[in-house]
Amino acid sequence: MSTLRFNAVEEAFKKKAVAVCAPSEYTSDYYGKFVFNKAAMVKYLSKDTIKALNNVIEKGATLDIALASQVAGGMKLWATELGATHYTHWFQPLTDGTAEKHDSFIDYAGAPGEAIIEDFSGKLLAQQEPDASSFPNGGIRSTFEARGYTAWDPSSPAFVMDDALVIPTIFISYTGESLDLKAPLLKALGAIDKAAVAVCQMFDPNVKKVVAFLGWEQEYFLVDEGLYATRPDLVLTGRTLMGHDSAKNQQLDDHYFGSVPTRVAAFMKDIEFEAYKYGIPAKTRHNEVAPNQFELAPIFGECNLSVDQNLLMMSIMKKVARHHSFRLLLHEKPFAGINGSGKHNNWSLGTNTGVGLFTPGKTAEENLQFVTFLVTTLMAVFKHNALLKASIMTAQNAHRLGANEAPPAIISAFLGTQLTAVLNKLEKSTSDEAIIFDDKKKLLLGIPHIPEVFLDNTDRNRTSPFAFTGNRFEFRAVGSSANCSSAMAALNSAVAAQLIEFKAEVDAKMATGASKEKSIFEVIKSYIKASKAIRFDGNGYSDEWKVEAAKRGLDCETSVPKIIEAYTSKSSIELFGKLNVLSEKELHARNEVKWETYVKKIQIEARVLGDLAINHIIPVATRYQSLLLDNVYKVKAVFPVEKAEKISSKDMALIEEISEHISNIKDNVDALIEARKVANTIEHEDKKANAYHDVVLPYFDVIRYNIDKLELIVDDEMWTLPKYRELLFIR
Ligand code: ADP
Ligand code: MG
Repeated sequence: MSTLRFNAVEEAFKKKAVAVCAPSEYTSDYYGKFVFNKAAMVKYLSKDTIKALNNVIEKGATLDIALASQVAGGMKLWATELGATHYTHWFQPLTDGTAEKHDSFIDYAGAPGEAIIEDFSGKLLAQQEPDASSFPNGGIRSTFEARGYTAWDPSSPAFVMDDALVIPTIFISYTGESLDLKAPLLKALGAIDKAAVAVCQMFDPNVKKVVAFLGWEQEYFLVDEGLYATRPDLVLTGRTLMGHDSAKNQQLDDHYFGSVPTRVAAFMKDIEFEAYKYGIPAKTRHNEVAPNQFELAPIFGECNLSVDQNLLMMSIMKKVARHHSFRLLLHEKPFAGINGSGKHNNWSLGTNTGVGLFTPGKTAEENLQFVTFLVTTLMAVFKHNALLKASIMTAQNAHRLGANEAPPAIISAFLGTQLTAVLNKLEKSTSDEAIIFDDKKKLLLGIPHIPEVFLDNTDRNRTSPFAFTGNRFEFRAVGSSANCSSAMAALNSAVAAQLIEFKAEVDAKMATGASKEKSIFEVIKSYIKASKAIRFDGNGYSDEWKVEAAKRGLDCETSVPKIIEAYTSKSSIELFGKLNVLSEKELHARNEVKWETYVKKIQIEARVLGDLAINHIIPVATRYQSLLLDNVYKVKAVFPVEKAEKISSKDMALIEEISEHISNIKDNVDALIEARKVANTIEHEDKKANAYHDVVLPYFDVIRYNIDKLELIVDDEMWTLPKYRELLFIR
């Protein structure tokens, strides 16, 4: 082992497990302490202010400056008592991270130079103009009109982090286009609320609000900081671009749900403590399938808030990892050959009357409503399967999808045997059969009883990208580093549009004199038939499925730059336009950003791979090769010719093998550089992204293959980069 590697591994062994900040108090004592939640509002705002603010949050009333000022006053007092000296608008640019710029509360009380006061006006709370010209916008803001505004999102509570009051905001251009991921999500959530309420009211007029829920499951890897520092590929790209399989990795299935290593357990305690401070209801923690892979999942919550909490949690996890001398990897595929990381998005809808719309009901009427929402969702996912795939697709996630571990790069929906039987029965029955009235004149559908065990989540299919799991759908194709907003905006929009269509179709049938139940039943039946292609309960990893899915007309594209095009298809433009979520111009702009991001990611990886190949791998391999040559030379000097040849034949073969790998690496790195140069001259981002995908990316595998072969041959003492077996096993 090289000295550098040896020292790093030794250091990693010695590190002790210490929870830095896990306290001894009850969780409920500090839960949400740093969030301006309802409890804080009651203490710091007047009753009237709270009422007016709730009107804004719940009923969409406009936020006036007088109200903003009242809230700002209370918020500032609360925040300063918790040690805040600064405030910041926190927003979600199109880069999948968050952005913030801190300003101090201080201001001159009067003329400049006079006494200082701490001030925070309603105007500062409500709106700001960050110098945001360098955030990606896809050409929406030309340089002469580079202004962008952040505007307060009162539906996601502000919080204090370190010394700053953090205010969740949307980010829009001077001309009103969204420049972030939150604004379209809020619009999509508004759309599904409205559309779902209208459908629910066909069953229960008391339904006034429908909330979309999200429960995310965050997967991640931990790597010792010292080892991480000696892998430039991990540092610069978030993943290893080379590294031979460890002899032992996940074959024994001994990591999943295994006991958590003590160093990691201490880390988990600390992130949970931080989560609770910020009102994030962290609930589940466990080892994942791959070595060094773990998961954290909170209790689900309102979708917009849950997205914000996930973003906050990802940044907390990164910070806390460093206190434990770890680096947290959120990349979807940090290590080849073992599982990558995803972020299952558990999604459901619930009413103000406390009904889960994907929870099978107890009465026939509730069941009809359940089936309505289920089937409408299937129809939406069927129609927009290409868009849903685009909503989760990135350069990183492409390594994970379809790689025999994560959902395939084809969107399909899994229902399980019982529910499939229900739909099949409904499809075949006539409306007269299906709707039977009992003596109390109560509606009884021919829907078979859906047993309680159904809620038990037993019927599972890990290979499905969109699976029904008892009371919700689980969108599993979302990547671990992603902002869930993209997936959630697409899904909620697709379902909202379908609910609107559903209502219109039912209304049209009723207008011809058909009963409500019969009309609903007929539309449901037509949806079951029409959306059949999206239902798939088999093995999503199999090659037969790829063939079958193509036959069914599902989107089977695997190239990231092409998948992204689904955002600007006719159906997507229509969908987002109709609901006012994103305009055609915004969609095109977003795709520009996506292609640009894709190019940059592959470009950086290509550079790092080329560099490491030329200045880490080849020099080491050459040194080992010359050691072997030296040996051969000496053998020949000592032994008679025939004997010498016999003795050195193995070394000679190795020398040749090394030469071959070295020249393969050199040739392919040269070709890679050339391909990059050509791609870089392409003007349009989409064409450039395609060139990076089709021409540049294929060199990665062949270069890596030769490097990984050398890793097996070269003297371990000389090899400078920590190997998988060292990176992947925390003790
Ligand atoms: P599993 O790994 O078995 O799928 P987890 O317990 O890790 O399950 O995560 C399940 C996630 O689903 C949690 O975040 C949970 O709060 C969430 N969830 C449960 N019920 C719902 C629901 N009705 N709507 C949305 N999310 C839900
Ligand atoms: Mg799950």
